Amino acid sequence: MSLLRIKELRTLLHKYNHSYYVLNISLVSDFEFDNLMCELDTLEKKHPEYEDVNSPSKRVGGDITKSFNSVKHQFPMLSLSNSYSKEDIVDFDSRVSKLIDNTFTYLCELKYDGVAISLIYENGQLVRALTRGDGVSGEDVTANVRTITSIPLSLIGNYPEKLEVRGEIIFPRPAFDLLNKERLANGEQLFANPRNTASGSIKLQDSSEVAKRKLDCFLYALFLDNSVTNSAYEHYELLKKWGFKTPFLDKNYVKSVSTIDEVMSFINYWEKSRNDLPFDIDGIVVKVNELSLQKLIGNTAKSPRWAIAFKYKAEQVSTLVKNVFYQVGRTGAITPVADLEPVEISGSVVKRASVHNADQILKLDLRIGDTVFVEKGGEIIPKIIAVDFTKRNKNQLPLDYIKCCPECNAELVRFEGEAQHYCINSNDCPPQIKGKISHFVGRKQMNIDGVGEETIDLLFNAGLIANVADLYNLKKEDILPLERMAEKSAENIVNGVEASKVVPFHKLLFALGIRYVGETVAKKLANHFENIQSLRIADFDTLVNVDEIGDKIAESIIDYFKSPINNELIDQLIGFGLNFEKAKIKDELSTDLLKDKKIVVSGKFNIVSRDEIKRLIELNGGKNISSVSSSTDMIICGENMGPSKLNKAKKLEIKLVVEEEFLDMIKVNQHSVEENPPIQGEIQF
Ligand SMILES: [Zn+2]
Repeated sequence: MSLLRIKELRTLLHKYNHSYYVLNISLVSDFEFDNLMCELDTLEKKHPEYEDVNSPSKRVGGDITKSFNSVKHQFPMLSLSNSYSKEDIVDFDSRVSKLIDNTFTYLCELKYDGVAISLIYENGQLVRALTRGDGVSGEDVTANVRTITSIPLSLIGNYPEKLEVRGEIIFPRPAFDLLNKERLANGEQLFANPRNTASGSIKLQDSSEVAKRKLDCFLYALFLDNSVTNSAYEHYELLKKWGFKTPFLDKNYVKSVSTIDEVMSFINYWEKSRNDLPFDIDGIVVKVNELSLQKLIGNTAKSPRWAIAFKYKAEQVSTLVKNVFYQVGRTGAITPVADLEPVEISGSVVKRASVHNADQILKLDLRIGDTVFVEKGGEIIPKIIAVDFTKRNKNQLPLDYIKCCPECNAELVRFEGEAQHYCINSNDCPPQIKGKISHFVGRKQMNIDGVGEETIDLLFNAGLIANVADLYNLKKEDILPLERMAEKSAENIVNGVEASKVVPFHKLLFALGIRYVGETVAKKLANHFENIQSLRIADFDTLVNVDEIGDKIAESIIDYFKSPINNELIDQLIGFGLNFEKAKIKDELSTDLLKDKKIVVSGKFNIVSRDEIKRLIELNGGKNISSVSSSTDMIICGENMGPSKLNKAKKLEIKLVVEEEFLDMIKVNQHSVEENPPIQGEIQF
């Protein structure tokens, strides 16, 4: 019985997943999807004997790979010969034409700037995923690849018993930018570009971390024991039928053409349009389409003779370094920035380039007055590639890296193993103070409306705020005299600050801006310690025993609470009535929204405790009951809800409500997370 339901749920969830991530069609609501997943998860935990590595529940990851085994490829994974010149493409065409008597076609494809991957399926199940490695053997990254939602774990349709498919794992720009925004908010170093990050992600030890990265994949090359097709183009159609995400035909990602002129116009088209794609490409692949002809033309030891890659040049320009100045971020990290003579690259004017750190300055031997080559490839920020030494004159002296903070004059330090210098005068250094306040008010933190970076500048310069606690002392009449401050906006600020007092503990903890305590870590801590007092006194051993808290985070938390200034700040915030306890929801929020409703609470909860949920039910007029019956009005379901309750609820068609929905329902959780919070930059360009 259970096995039947497990199988049914797996098929259904695979289908919804394929439809959403591959076809871009949503068949069910997120809520319904989560409920089915929750049911499957519960059943699988109850019946470990029906374990399946390709169950849709495995998408969230959790497997730890300590070292990635090297496995030999079935067919060598060749790399393409590359060229930056269009003449080479013409030469390639004449070489191929000489070898072939009959007519043939070319397949033009985008060259995705990601990580090549080989996937092996047996009986429709993903059994192995390998990186390219050295082309002969690759690394087994199967556990991590299972978390990529656009890669099918189980095929559909009339697939062959065994097949290998290859393609490229990419990090789409929007997901990459979001990841960097989060890193910025957490005070972590930004990733430079999607390609390297994709390649690093695929080799993370913890697959649940990979799942969070939202990688994507395009699959296009098919290898079968017995070929059933005539052309590479037909592979696309087959792969699509079996549930793979192939490059989009309707968006001109692939084109079958018959002349070299058409190849050229494909190359030219994407040279202009590639910046509009939601992911990076670094060129175009041109291959002979007919499989029999590919075989005839053959391979060299390293690469096929029937294909070539045309690579787009990253646009490079030369310009003058007028000055080098130093920016101080929220965490005190110092970033040297080159002030450039404005110059146009890839359609935008560039005035500044990051030089990252002192080592980079040494490596480039960068001096003020140098002419440098600047490139804007897949990177977010243009970078200096090299100095044009032919243009250097004798009077230019090596740069003296600053010893003191440009903003507060405190002596800089460099921690062991870190490339960056830091200003550790965090409580008296203006950009750090303003950065901290700006982090505190962020949408995912205290979500204080009306307090943007400009307002923070104004308030700080007027001496009204010097730390986050000062926000709670602001009065309308103090704000009104400030420049461009209208009655309405002053009111908004005061109201926004007041409303933030009920923000849940984990968000407040995140808002404090403790180094390495990002959104996820804050949740773990809030869950474990339940209030600020027990976190404050926690020692190293207690901290590292908490799920996912490592040495670095533990040390950072201890450091934070060592500081009398930080402790005083927290005492002040406690005094203002902020929510420093898990589940401290004020009684005055009571309503009769749940009047006479019979409610069952089941499972484990993240934001508030189970007891608190029960208290809230009564506070809002509802009745707690322990067992599910036909008179039950709703079930508040947490993680690992009991399967018998779940089945009964389904049979009786009782409304299931998850934690966040419940809190929304009784209007406790007014500060629900919004997507894409505005970025508060450490480096402004
Ligand atoms: Zn400073």
